[in-house]
Amino acid sequence: NKSATSNFIRSIVIEDLQAGRVKEVVTRFPPEPNGYLHIGHAKSICLNFELADEFNGRTNLRFDDTNPLKEDTEYVEAIKEDVKWLGFEWDGLHFASDYFEEMYNRAVLLIKKGKAYVDDLSAEEIRKTRGTLTEPGTESPYRNRSVEENLDLFQRMRNGEFKDGEKVLRAKIDMSSPNINLRDPVLYRIAHATHHNTGDKWCIYPMYDFAHPLEDAIEGVTHSLCSLEFEDHRPLYDWVVRECEMEHVPRQYEFARLNMTNTVMSKRKLKLLVDEKIVDGWDDPRMPTIAGLRRRGYTPEAIRAFAREIGVSRSNSVVDAKMLEHFIREDLKLKAPRTMAVLRPLKVVITNYPEGQVEMLDAENNPENPEMGIRQIPFSREIYIEQDDFMENPPSKYFRLFPGNEVRLKHAYFIKCHDVIKDEQGNVVELHCTYDPETKSGTGFTGRKVKGTIHWVDAKHAVPAEFRLYEPLILDGQEDGDSFLDNINPNSLETLHGFVEPNLKDCKPHDKFQFFRHGYFNVDPKYTTPDKLVFNRIVSLKSSFEL
Ligand code: ATP
Ligand code: MG
Ligand code: MG
Repeated sequence: NKSATSNFIRSIVIEDLQAGRVKEVVTRFPPEPNGYLHIGHAKSICLNFELADEFNGRTNLRFDDTNPLKEDTEYVEAIKEDVKWLGFEWDGLHFASDYFEEMYNRAVLLIKKGKAYVDDLSAEEIRKTRGTLTEPGTESPYRNRSVEENLDLFQRMRNGEFKDGEKVLRAKIDMSSPNINLRDPVLYRIAHATHHNTGDKWCIYPMYDFAHPLEDAIEGVTHSLCSLEFEDHRPLYDWVVRECEMEHVPRQYEFARLNMTNTVMSKRKLKLLVDEKIVDGWDDPRMPTIAGLRRRGYTPEAIRAFAREIGVSRSNSVVDAKMLEHFIREDLKLKAPRTMAVLRPLKVVITNYPEGQVEMLDAENNPENPEMGIRQIPFSREIYIEQDDFMENPPSKYFRLFPGNEVRLKHAYFIKCHDVIKDEQGNVVELHCTYDPETKSGTGFTGRKVKGTIHWVDAKHAVPAEFRLYEPLILDGQEDGDSFLDNINPNSLETLHGFVEPNLKDCKPHDKFQFFRHGYFNVDPKYTTPDKLVFNRIVSLKSSFEL
């Protein structure tokens, strides 16, 4: 069963169905199209869609597009792509902006009932007169305008007679409520801005706390799941549904947001990284965005398994980013072909191997999954090995190549180093080795043992490739406020140029491989061209993380 992870929200749904309080579970995923989705959103997407799926309910994708200044159709399209890529199909596709007329009418209803008024105080004055946790707020001098005056002013707000910030519509609830959210919250504000969906039709826009419950009620949402910060807004949510006399009554439930180490998780902050060109766009493989994770090489399966494992609770916590890495390793372990790539090449000439001769060696594609079969790789007199698989003056316990030492070449032969060739600056540029034909891999040679096995590619047939290795974008543990800009890791990207096996010549964007000893890699979809292969390292092989 792909979704039966128990959590408190699932228990509520089961009770509601059993008690007949709801006939069909309806959830929604309600992003604001002001940026790309991140891994935190994936948690919410999985929760909403998997919950409804499990009980044969419905899930809407709804764009909460009530702030024209920050929203864009680019984001709408990216969000749709990401939700689909994660493997979910929405039932309804909606825009909050499709309900603007209905929301306006409900606001008029509130005014007529004496439950809302037009206020001339500035945003600053409203904030100052709201009071604090220990002090009640003070009433606005405009609070007792007549219904007629309010109706007239609200109509004129809509008509565009006032400038931004000149007036707002506020709920008339209770300025001394212990819950600050109920101290006459703003319902509508003026913004002369072109909206991505409604163009210039509107110059007043509903606030989240007014719009969201109405959107849920209009769509027949039964369980409206949001993050914990909205717990104190729930009384206002219920007030709006009740006072606006919505026929359907949705219920809000809160769960803890996902926070992760060494990253930022807010569209606003992620946008800053993009705008400041600290990263190469929203889909930079270092970003915690769905698009970034996809480009890095994460799979929907790994992200969904991660979301299931972190679960849903009501206590905030910070998840170790290593846990996400654990799930991509698990997913690719049996799926990704294993092959050899040399990231920092050092040429080796095998002096006793016949010049001009090439032989094909058998190599298993995945020893943990024999069904993946074997491939053939060329071997000849010149190969590349990894620079750090050789040391001229090694410490004890170094079992790789050094003058006089013998190592095993994976899938090939034992080789022994005899000569070290250096350039004028003294850098090692080439090694001369000999091989022992008796030691061919797969022949069962037991004559002697070597302690080191290294990887290689044949120099003549190797395919050049670029490798991009990533480290966390943000140093330190959890970011706080805007200080994350001071904590950017200057070494989060390392670009190397080396070689892969010739079999990879025709690989396509998003093909995934395990490079022996280096980790899992994804063919980068942005920079790979027919003439140039670029690989993103998804994760290295080793992990200290245990579930
Ligand atoms: P951000 O600050 O990153 O923009 P947001 O909550 O403002 O986040 P929305 O587009 O409004 O983003 O969110 C859509 C849905 O995704 C909401 O229901 C929200 O609760 C949920 N969500 C956003 N971030 C997280 C997170 N880190 N963990 C779990 N759910 C999240
Ligand atoms: Mg938001
Ligand atoms: Mg936000």
